[in-house]
Amino acid sequence: MTPNKNGYYGKFGGAYIPEMLYPNVKYLKENYLKIIQSDSFQKEFKSLLKDYVGRPSPLYFAERLSKKYDTNIYLKREDLNHTGAHKINNTIGQILLAQELGKKRIIAETGAGQHGVATATVCALMGLECIVYMGEVDIERQAPNVSRMKMLGAEVRPAKSGSRTLKDATNEAIRDWIAHPVDTHYIIGSVVGPHPYPDMVALFQSVISEEMKWQLKEHVGRETPDSIIACVGGGSNAAGAFYHYLKDDKVRLIAVEAAGLGINTGESAATSVLGSEGVIHGSRTLLMQTDDGQIIEPYSISAGLDYPGIGPLHAHLIKTGRAEVLSATDDEALQAGYLLSKIEGIIPALESAHALAALEMMRFAKDEIVVVNLSGRGDKDLATYIKHQNRFE
Ligand SMILES: *Cc1c(COP(=O)(O)O)cnc(C)c1O
Repeated sequence: MTPNKNGYYGKFGGAYIPEMLYPNVKYLKENYLKIIQSDSFQKEFKSLLKDYVGRPSPLYFAERLSKKYDTNIYLKREDLNHTGAHKINNTIGQILLAQELGKKRIIAETGAGQHGVATATVCALMGLECIVYMGEVDIERQAPNVSRMKMLGAEVRPAKSGSRTLKDATNEAIRDWIAHPVDTHYIIGSVVGPHPYPDMVALFQSVISEEMKWQLKEHVGRETPDSIIACVGGGSNAAGAFYHYLKDDKVRLIAVEAAGLGINTGESAATSVLGSEGVIHGSRTLLMQTDDGQIIEPYSISAGLDYPGIGPLHAHLIKTGRAEVLSATDDEALQAGYLLSKIEGIIPALESAHALAALEMMRFAKDEIVVVNLSGRGDKDLATYIKHQNRFE
């Protein structure tokens, strides 16, 4: 599903940016498709995905998990990618694009640090300067990822204003881009931001469902599953997993948001349920905001889902009924994470554990083919899992 020429999916999307950024974003908008669709770009992109990231990621038939739910569950193993999640698919694409555009300097913002690590990784790979903005509070909360970024050669700059979290880091990154319009590319980490970012990031992540098609054909003799389940923070792993099935109405698309301590506790990140229409990070979408338009701080046990908005593509898919939304609480995700570890030997990222938690909430036919997008691995979340161990063993 591609947005219209102004970047709208239905009424969501667009590019709401300061005037000073018009030339940058316009240049990107006019060139991204031409570059990405060129043979030479595709050749380099595919080659790095194969040899550096380790793609294709396996599509694994989870036999014991399938037995438990009396259906057929396949896990798309994005957790096996280099750096441990799907985010690298996008940063590889964007660093190649930045090179094509002649950019010498990369900036990014990060909350949990996962996108910062994926960006620092590709900058090291290409020898480009890398500056990652991160809220001061997040720098403290996510110390291991800060160390990783530094080891990879990136400079981590603290955002010291406001709540000193993700949205403040985003403001700093935008300020930097305004100050360095010519030599700098801004790598956004999800299907959010002004057009063309949501479309561009979805295109890079679409490799997930591109592979799913031929992998399912090998496993079950047809390219289409009955249901696809993915967690949604900004929505990039879900966009990638849904992409090649968006037009096939027979495929159920299930987006799982983080309910935190519970949707109505005030400690939640269930954006599509609690959110209303507004503008965040440069696009019109659903976001958690007060009556006078102040962003409400989200909460989830999983740092990657702890985002107050949702990409415009997902806002559109949900509002038009093409995708269904479920939400999983912290405890439901922890439970699902422990279950997968115990019966399949796979420790999932807490984000991905939210997608797995949806299996408990749904009913499946015995012959149904269900794909869960396992967006990342759980090594980064071990401390959190262990903290709650006695309640879930
Ligand atoms: C960042 C992250 C997410 C959430 O981001 P999306 O853009 O919604 O995919 C999900 N899973 C993992 C493992 C992540 O690192």
